[in-house]
Formats: sequence, C-alpha cells, structure tokens
Amino acid sequence: MTDNCVAKRLNVNGIVQGVGFRPFVFQLAARYGLNGEVANTSAGVSIHIEGPAPRVTAFEAELAAKSPPLAQVVNISACSEPFKHCTEFAIVKSKGASEKFTLISPDVSICDDCLAELFDPRNRRHRYPFINCTNCGPRYTIIDDIPYDRPKTSMRHFTMCGPCQQEYDDPNNRRFHAQPNACADCGPHVKLYDNQRNGLPGKDPITEAAKLLRQGHILAIKGLGGYHLAVDAENSRAVQRLRRRKLREEKPFAVMSGDLETIRSYARVQLAEEKLLTSIQRPIVLLKKKIPNCLAAEVAPRNRYFGVMLPYTPLHYLLIDCGFVALVMTSGNRSEEPIAIDNEDAFDRLADIADYFLIHNRDIYLRSDDSIVRHSAGAARFIRRSRGVVPVPIFLKKPLPSVLACGAELKNTVCLTRQDKAFVSQHIGDLENLATYDFFKLTIGHLKRILDIHPEIIACDMHPDYLSTRYARKQQHIPVIQVQHHHAHIVSCMAEHGLSGPVLGLSCDGTGYGPDGAIWGGEILIVDEHEFERAGHLAYVPMPGGSAAIKEPWRMAVSYLQDAFGDEFHEFDLPWLREIEDQKIRIVCEIMSKRINCPSTSSLGRLFDAVAAICGIRSRVNFEGQAAMELEMLAADQTDRIYDYQWEEKTTYRILAQPIIRGVVNDIRTGIPTADISARFHRTLINLFADLCTVIGKQRHLDRVVLSGGVFQNSILLDGLIQALTEKNFEVYSHRKIPTNDGGISLGQAVVAAASFRA
Ligand code: ZN
Ligand code: ZN
Ligand code: FE
Repeated sequence: MTDNCVAKRLNVNGIVQGVGFRPFVFQLAARYGLNGEVANTSAGVSIHIEGPAPRVTAFEAELAAKSPPLAQVVNISACSEPFKHCTEFAIVKSKGASEKFTLISPDVSICDDCLAELFDPRNRRHRYPFINCTNCGPRYTIIDDIPYDRPKTSMRHFTMCGPCQQEYDDPNNRRFHAQPNACADCGPHVKLYDNQRNGLPGKDPITEAAKLLRQGHILAIKGLGGYHLAVDAENSRAVQRLRRRKLREEKPFAVMSGDLETIRSYARVQLAEEKLLTSIQRPIVLLKKKIPNCLAAEVAPRNRYFGVMLPYTPLHYLLIDCGFVALVMTSGNRSEEPIAIDNEDAFDRLADIADYFLIHNRDIYLRSDDSIVRHSAGAARFIRRSRGVVPVPIFLKKPLPSVLACGAELKNTVCLTRQDKAFVSQHIGDLENLATYDFFKLTIGHLKRILDIHPEIIACDMHPDYLSTRYARKQQHIPVIQVQHHHAHIVSCMAEHGLSGPVLGLSCDGTGYGPDGAIWGGEILIVDEHEFERAGHLAYVPMPGGSAAIKEPWRMAVSYLQDAFGDEFHEFDLPWLREIEDQKIRIVCEIMSKRINCPSTSSLGRLFDAVAAICGIRSRVNFEGQAAMELEMLAADQTDRIYDYQWEEKTTYRILAQPIIRGVVNDIRTGIPTADISARFHRTLINLFADLCTVIGKQRHLDRVVLSGGVFQNSILLDGLIQALTEKNFEVYSHRKIPTNDGGISLGQAVVAAASFRA
C-alpha cells in the first residue's frame, strides 16, 4: 500500500437487502479497482473498502448517488478503519445476524432487461411468464418468514436447474441471489381451466386465454398480489355481465393497457401521470376520459375518470400483447370480500363469476390489491396504498415503542412501528364481513412475523363497535389506547411530514366517532401527538336512520332541508322529493323530531351527500361517497358567486349550513345549472374554512394547517384550500405518502398511542 491509501468502513441503512445491493457494490469496487468486502448485517449492508484515497472518495460518491432500482438508501455512515490488506473485493457471509430484521422490498413490475428477454426468441426464457431478476419481480407477497431467503418464500417448492443456479451464484449476473429466480425448466407454470375445474388443452394457455377474452368471456387471472377478474374493455356486453355477476352496479372498474400510446387513445395523460403510470410500482392511475372513446361505457359509468394501469408482470405483458386495447382488471372478489389468492379458494368463490381460470402454481402468501393514485393539487395522492409500495416504511422523526395500530372500519389498514419506522399494511378492506376480518388478523400475524415486531401497545379507534376496536380490546396483557378518529387523521399527516404540534388540523371526513357520541367529520382541531382540542365544527344535524343515511343521501337532504326551512320544505317542488314516497319522508321527519336512531353529525361528507341529493344527482348510492363524488365531477371550472356562510362563536365555533342550503335551493328554483351550483358550493366551503382557520389561527398563534380526512379525495376542495390557506400565509400540509381517507388512519393511531403511553 502506498502512502495515499486509505481503509474505510461504510454502513448503509435502508432497503438494501434482497435488492441486488451487494453485487452493485461488488461491481462498483471492481470499476474503481478497489479491494475489500461487503456483507449483509442486521442493520443493512456493511462495506470495508481500501485503496488509493481519490478512488475511495469517488467510490463513496457514486455509492451515495446511485443504487439498484429496488434499493432505498436511508443513510450511509463512514469511518476510517485499520487496513485488512485485502487482495480482492469479495461478497462475504452475513455478519452479526443476531437480529433477523431487515427491510423487505415491495413487489415491483418487470424491469426493462427482463421484458426484453421475455420477447426475445433467442433467449432461454422467451415467453416465460415468471421471468424476474434482482431488480424486479415478487417480494412481499411471496414471503412467509424472515430472513428473506428462497426457503422462506413460496419459491421453496421449486429447485433451480443448473443454468438458473449458475446465475444465482454469480455476483456479476443480474440474477445473483434473486430469490424468485426460475425458468421454464425449473419454475412455476400457468394453466387454463374452465369454471368446473377441467383443465383445457392447448400448448400456450396465455394465447388460449386471450382468445376466450376476445370472445367475451370473463376470466379469473392469478396475478402478483391476488386474482383479477378480466374482460375485454371494449366489449360492452362482457363488461355488463361482469357487473351483474360481481354484484357491482356502478363502482368504476380499473383497466390495463399495453403502453402509453394506447392509453392516450381513450384518456388524457399529463406528464406527471405518465411518470406514475410507468413507475416501478405500477399503480392504477386515475386519468381524465377522452370523450368519445372506444371503451365500453359500463367500465366507469357517470365518472369523468378511468382507473388505468400498465402491465406489471410478464404474464400481463404476454396477455395484453395478444392485441387488446384494454382489459378490465378488477379485483378477483365477490362484492366487498378480500380478493382471492389461493387457487382452491378462487375456484370456490369465483366459479359463478368467471367462465375460465388462468392460474399458476407460485403461491401468494399475502394478498395485496393494486394501489390507486391520482395526481391532484400538484402531487401524487394515494387513494389506496398497497401493491408495489407496501411494506416500505414511513420514517418517523423519532423512535417509538412498538405499537400495533388496528385502523378504522372502512378501507382498513393496520400499522406496526419499530423504532423510527412505521409500517402501514396493504389495503385490507371494509371490516364488515368475516372474510375481511380474517384477512385483518392474518395480516397482523404476518407483519409481526416478517418485521419481527412484538407490540408493547395496541391502538384503535374510539368507536366501540368497530371490529378493529373489538379485536384490540380482546388482546390481553397489552395496554390498549383508543384514539379519536380525526385526531388520528391529522396526526397521520403530521407524521408523514415529520411535524410536531401544535398545529391547526382541518379534518374533512365522512364518519368518525366523537367523544360526545356524535358522528364527527367537519372539524377544526388544535392538535399535537398527545391530545387535541375541538376549536370549530359543522353544526350538528340529525342523521336519520344512522348508517342508512350514508346509503340513502336523500335522508341527509331531508335533514338539512328541515334544518334550514322547518316544515316549509314539504311544499318545495323538487323533482327528486316527489319521487320518494310521502310516507318515507314522514317517517324520517318523525324519527328526527323524536330523536329515534338519529345520531347527531357534523360530517362534511354528509353535507356533500345532502347537497348532491337536493340537486337531484342521486338519492341512493351504491358505494360510500358516490353522491359526493358525482357532485364534484359535475362542477363547472369557474364560478362568479358563492353562497352566504355563517358561524356562531360559543365554546367552539359552530359552522351553520342553513345559509348554504338556502342558497342551493334558491339556485335550483331559479334554474341555475347543477354544474354552477356545484362550483359555488365548493368555492363556498373553501372560503369558509380558509376564513375560519384564519380567525382561529390568529387567536391561537398557529400558522400551520394540516389537512386530512376522506373528503380531501375531492381535488377541487383540496386544491382550493391549499391555495386559499397559502394566500392567508399558512404553511399547508396534505397527504403524499399515505391515503387521506381511512386507509391512512392507522399511522396516526400508532403515533398518538405511543405519545400517550410515554406521557
Ligand atoms: Zn428484471
Ligand atoms: Zn431454471
Ligand atoms: Fe375518516
């Protein structure tokens, strides 16, 4: 060694195992002609490097700047170390694996190299539907336990053939230590069946499946995180049949197309959306429809958007390559149950929906639905955070004790924390049936195992009847902390941005159990991670019939009309009102006056429902929030006018909706188009909340506003409030990493519970 030589230890933390990080380091060292060694450790990857100082510096710089596609480096620490006088650079055995925890990569889409091989007739994996490498393929959904090695994955049933093993052992190969490595000789295979479980003949099941789709049949197709139900998206009768059989009347279906150019034939794609579509996570992206377009109207009726994704597995690519403009690819489940992942289970549950089954024999251990994102208010927003993203942690600003947070009722996710990392689970679903509840319990067990977390605290919602709350309270010997729904919403957004309180929290939401027993959801709170104070809210109105009012927005319309006009509203000549039987309206008024099964609510979601119903958009919904969503879709781009608004100052500020409702009714009577009414309603809410936040912010010396809650999926409201509050000199924070809906709540619950536990 010459004088200007140095020896260093570099420790790399983050998602650096099972993602090709060691071969990357190996190749980097070779390029700079440096010696040393690299090993996995309990905390990440550890490197010993020695050689001429300038080259070591260059090596360090490139290590920090570049990494393999699936790696996420959180930090690199460096220090000098004695020379080991290495004569080469070597990948050595894992060190100090006393702690078996490592960050596991999510499942990601097929990489360009594998895609090129897939369609290369000279390649030995030509048209092999399970091609993958260190940079792509399944991870999270095939792991059963840690450490992440082939015997702990569903690939344990397949023994690598000679050529595959050679790739696996060669640090210079793209498949070095790629656990799911396989080929047609040694790996999993696809097969085609009818719905009576009879195998169908034919050399190439994928081409045969494509033929059946082309003929208008419904196929159940096993994917990465579960089954999809697929039909040709241009075939209107096939799409209708799928809707009937799936008992899904109107909720939009997602579609998959082969490339951006094809997508552009039926939807608008902005640059930001193009990036989302082509990202390795391959989420479903909501894109504005082009009108007219070639897809069946039944794909997304009464909706301005299509949910679109690009193929993400080799199997998808082979299927789409058979010449489809788009395939409907909707979750393989029966209405609200979890998606099927198991072949037997799929036949049991989907045989009366699907005509044929394209299945394979690589097991899925943990289901993961497609993620859904929308580019709105200048950023990508998750509507559902699942496949492709989970289990990437949210990094917290300080370490927490280990918490299991059980989430809310709808769009449930759970969250487990480990030091400064919060792991929000994949989308579990609405905890309203046994199948989903079983999946909830399974996910908790699975995550505890693969993340090696033993919770010291359990967090859950305040609602006594949520299945997630009941689950939490059943756990013995672990303290349970119940967290108010909107407190959790706001803190989850704070956690995502590393904020400490106090902040002003604006929670615009559908439902949430308040400590007073009312259903909250239009709240201005003063929040830190320990506690919250209710500073303002929408004035209470009765919610006639409780949850029935969510399914039948006309009930909320009647409640708000009664609130604004008293009995006089019965005389109004509103077409939708005439369509509802008199007797039903009378009963609703009676239960409201006697307060029978009429919880009080301050929910903004319900006010949206009421206004949508009053405008005659719809009196009944097929899924939660549908009326509110359609009201948003209808809104005109501009508005010249807003409705009057008003609040009362008592111990808290109470926002009165009467002037708004009167304004809406007046507009309907004078024949103002619904598009303008909707635009005025949105603008009114934006001004109202921005003004009231300003009043409260001044009184309490708070200049940061945090936005959270399901109603912020409405991009007019989100965009408008971010602008209006920014103009009033607030720092405004909204969700980027997790959903603003109840899918994000488990994170907030975990942080609040940890803070209260310490206090
Ligand atoms: Zn690859
Ligand atoms: Zn092989
Ligand atoms: Fe909520």
